[in-house]
Amino acid sequence: MTLIAAAGGADTEDDSNLFSLTPGERDARLYSVRRDTFGPTLDCVVACPACGESLEFTADIAALVPEHGTAYAADTSPATLADDGYQVTVRPPTLGDVEELASLGGQALIDRCVLHADHNGEAILPAEFPPHLVTAIDERLSAADPAAVTEMTIVCPACSLSWTQVFDITGFLWAEVSARAERVLLEVHVLAREYGWSESEILALSTAKREKYLELVRG
Ligand SMILES: [Zn+2]
Repeated sequence: MTLIAAAGGADTEDDSNLFSLTPGERDARLYSVRRDTFGPTLDCVVACPACGESLEFTADIAALVPEHGTAYAADTSPATLADDGYQVTVRPPTLGDVEELASLGGQALIDRCVLHADHNGEAILPAEFPPHLVTAIDERLSAADPAAVTEMTIVCPACSLSWTQVFDITGFLWAEVSARAERVLLEVHVLAREYGWSESEILALSTAKREKYLELVRG
């Protein structure tokens, strides 16, 4: 949310519009921020779960997440599932739900997102849902917010294992921004010491100019 707000993807004065986003809407915006900040190619490193081989590859955002971008919107309208005498109305979770229930676990999330549930006309609780109904709800909510989970199919060249890897844009982008922030801090430190400029003077320089001065300093 901090990254989306900082990139101008939301009104920073009002968090409520961020909390009303679905996880997929958040990720679609994060992919957009990533593309505009560091480019469309993701440099990935993953260890093969079978043989431990370290695999390095690139992934293109547009190919990986067709729904990326700020125009993506999940289908947030309530959906009713009727199955085997069960009738359940659910809505997709929002970031506000996830935020408030982070410590309470998955059952609490489904409690929040089920608007109505009955079995042959008698009200029931989500905890009483049979597994097939939980699966059906899960599938319905996934279809309503397809950008919520990004998956990659990876084949290990060493042992030929093929597996599905979930890609976490939140953690990936946060790590990139942290690394960039540390680098900029170091650059400010070097230039401030060399030229006596203030932090704001150094940050006002274009990246190209800053790099040119750093080259001069480093000889
Ligand atoms: Zn392997």
